[in-house]
This record gives sequence, structure tokens and C-alpha cells, in this order.
Amino acid sequence: MIDLHVHTARCGHAVGSAAEYVAAAASAKVSVIAFTDHLPLPPGYTPGYAMPWVQLPLYVNEVRALADASAGSGGPEVLLGVEADWIPGQESLVRGALDEHEFDMVLGSVHFIDDWAFDDPTLRERYSEWTPDLLWGRYFEDLAAAAATGLYDVMAHPDLVKKFDYRPLVDPKPLFREAAAVFHECGVAVEVNTAGLRKPCAEIYPSLDFLKECRIAGVPATIGSDAHCPEEVGASWPAGRDLLLAAGYSSVVVFRRREPQEIPL
Ligand SMILES: [Zn+2]
Ligand SMILES: [Zn+2]
Repeated sequence: MIDLHVHTARCGHAVGSAAEYVAAAASAKVSVIAFTDHLPLPPGYTPGYAMPWVQLPLYVNEVRALADASAGSGGPEVLLGVEADWIPGQESLVRGALDEHEFDMVLGSVHFIDDWAFDDPTLRERYSEWTPDLLWGRYFEDLAAAAATGLYDVMAHPDLVKKFDYRPLVDPKPLFREAAAVFHECGVAVEVNTAGLRKPCAEIYPSLDFLKECRIAGVPATIGSDAHCPEEVGASWPAGRDLLLAAGYSSVVVFRRREPQEIPL
């Protein structure tokens, strides 16, 4: 079992220390765990969405120390990742932060449409400003733009726009096909993120249709729980693995020092 997407209390909206996550991974028989706390955001963004800038070096040092300790004691392999938002115009800020630290893996996420954190449950009323088709079209445009920055190894929860079950009226398959083609062209992997099962959409991110398009386009896949508490480490691994197999994948990739390595399912 592997889990390449977990958060800790440092991000301001999760609970548990990194050490507690490693202990949870060991007891859940997770063999590889990647910490992917939220990269700090530009000034002006809501503090609870990501760790503050002052925490970033502390986070890096803490995870690297845990990785060494866990390797020394035969525990799970611990990787240092980060989840970095795509915010238009802020690419150089993100690039600077990524260049400063030797991350194993960088997740790219679209959580904002303009200034709206569309996955924040307290901002749900803003869905009324959009038709589902326009919102999905815009989200997928932003997702493609994010993948094309070259900043990221993996596109996280790639159909997050479905979180509150706000679904398009037209068939979204062309959007999936186009996104998969962009992922392939830009050399990013796609994440199977089981957190969707715990949200109103009640479905893994991405859907089977989207994941199939990724497999057909030759896009490698990763898997993660997006745990926000230690108890969620490895959550719904069997469902995630089944989805990957149903889409035709026989392996996933794990990033070490930003190089992908295949692991059979
Ligand atoms: Zn996210
Ligand atoms: Zn996350």
C-alpha cells in the first residue's frame, strides 16, 4: 500500500504531526508515504489554506529527519512532497520555493478560480454565479494551464470541480480527453485521490472515464488519500487500486527526488 498525499497540522486545516502520520502509516502497513503539505500562498490569501512561509524550512527539515529515522528503523519509506497551488501570475514565486528545497514530488492543484476557493465549503454559495458547463469548462482550462507550467510532477485531484456534486449537463468526456492529452504532452502524472469518496460527490478523483483517458494517452498515475488526520492514511486504498485496474493501469509511479519510478499494483 502506498499513500502519496497527506497533510499535517502545519497547513492550518489538518490535524496530527508528521511523526503521528508515519506511525499511522506503519500500523496501516503503508510502505511508502509522501508528505504533501500545502506550499505557502502569496500574501493576501486566507491563512488557513496553507502553511505560513516561516514554516516551510521547518516542514522540510522535519520530514527529512523522519525519513532518515524511519529508514533506520525499518519503518515506511517517507518522501518529502508538497502540494502547490496554481495561481496565475505567481509561477515565479512557486518556482523559487521549489528550487530552494529538494522535494521528492510536487503536486499541482487548482483550488482557486480567480479569487474563489471553489472547494471551500464555506464559499459554496458562489456556485450560483456559474452554470455547471461554464464552470467545468473554466476549471479544465485552468487545469491545462497549470500542467503546462512545468512546475509539477503530478496533477492532484484532477476533477476537484465535482466536489460538491455540481455536474455538467453536457458530456464531459471531451474535457477529459483534452486534459489527458495535455498531461501527456507536459509530462505530468495523474493522481488517483480517494478523498472524493469522503465528499458530497462520493467518488474518487478522477472519475473512471477521466482516468481511462489518461491511461489511453499514456499518462502515469499516482495514488493518495489526501489525509487530513492520521487515521485517514491509506484510506480507501482498495477502491483506488480497483479504479486504476479498471482503467487499465497495472502500475503506479512514486517520485523520488522528482524522478518517477514504477511500482506494480
Ligand atoms: Zn488539494
Ligand atoms: Zn491535499
